[in-house]
Amino acid sequence: MARTYNFSAGPATLPLEVLEEAQRELLDYQGTGMSIMEHSHRGKAYMAVHEEAIANTKELLGLGDDYAVLFLQGGASLQFAMIPMNLLGAGQTADYTNSGSWAAKAIKEAKLLGHVNVAADCGKEIPTRVPLASEMNLTEGAAYVHITTNETISGAQWKSFPKTDAPLVADMSSDILSRPFNAQDFGLIYAGAQKNLAPAGMALVIMRKDLADRVPANVPSMLKYSTHIENDSMFNTCPCFTIYMYMLVTRWIKKTGLETLYARNVDKAARLYSAIDASDFYKGTAVPECRSDMNVTWRLPSEELEATFVKEALAEGFSGLKGHRSVGGIRASIYNAFPVEGVDALVSFMKDFEARNG
Ligand SMILES: *Cc1c(COP(=O)(O)O)cnc(C)c1O
Repeated sequence: MARTYNFSAGPATLPLEVLEEAQRELLDYQGTGMSIMEHSHRGKAYMAVHEEAIANTKELLGLGDDYAVLFLQGGASLQFAMIPMNLLGAGQTADYTNSGSWAAKAIKEAKLLGHVNVAADCGKEIPTRVPLASEMNLTEGAAYVHITTNETISGAQWKSFPKTDAPLVADMSSDILSRPFNAQDFGLIYAGAQKNLAPAGMALVIMRKDLADRVPANVPSMLKYSTHIENDSMFNTCPCFTIYMYMLVTRWIKKTGLETLYARNVDKAARLYSAIDASDFYKGTAVPECRSDMNVTWRLPSEELEATFVKEALAEGFSGLKGHRSVGGIRASIYNAFPVEGVDALVSFMKDFEARNG
């Protein structure tokens, strides 16, 4: 079987070992005579999966009982609305930083629901970057401060996180569990699963439980964090198969080690960025200090050449390299599960393409 080098931003490549294990267990989950997909979400077999998924998350992030780990539906996009619905009280202000398309979407939803201060805005700058902590114009007594740790579309990433008095809330959809960090500095972290964690179908939400005290009574039950904390993400039928895959992926991360994965991620990204920097033909689109280790973005001298590049790359077995439709260019998404061999193969393809077209 020839696996394609899948550079897609999401749904994205999953660890081969995890796919193989899921395949082995697909028809008969641990001798139960049925697939994990067919088990009741309240039965013993699935409950063990659910509990391990939570335990692995807490262990990887060093979190205790003061944090809840939730598996919610509606993707990261619903979190854009749930966060202000639950945490931004009447008369309060939430601080948001704008670093690009995803941050802008979070801001747009929050503005529908409450008062927002855009504390720093470099969302439209090219080359792209994230705000400096020193540029942030924070509100005293803010309900929370929201950042987007990795802009999946433009390829800009926060390398260190701001220290804030108000709870720090982060969209980590495209770089969660790609590097060690101090999770206890955050009030709430959320991530759509389909980039670095699992197949699509849920958002992982990690929150300090005391923040749930703020949830207004008139928020519908399904949209209240407190409902999901009280019911251990089982208020309604949870996305069992996605959580099962997430459990296998977190097991794989634990076995590999977060530090090891991080070193690998930095190394993979460095190989691509040095290929870009070594050429006048390719031009990186992010400010070097903010270059993402997860989504590497660059341009060719013309859109025509970019289209040819994507087409020829696909014929060579590299899929998903076309930049997001809103910005164009080339994007190579190289999450945890993406193999270094694929990066090296792409680098040789880039050299060859430049030699023929440069
Ligand atoms: C993909 C992505 C989202 C949206 O995720 P969905 O699960 O599709 O709603 C939000 N934020 C970031 C940073 C993303 O990369």
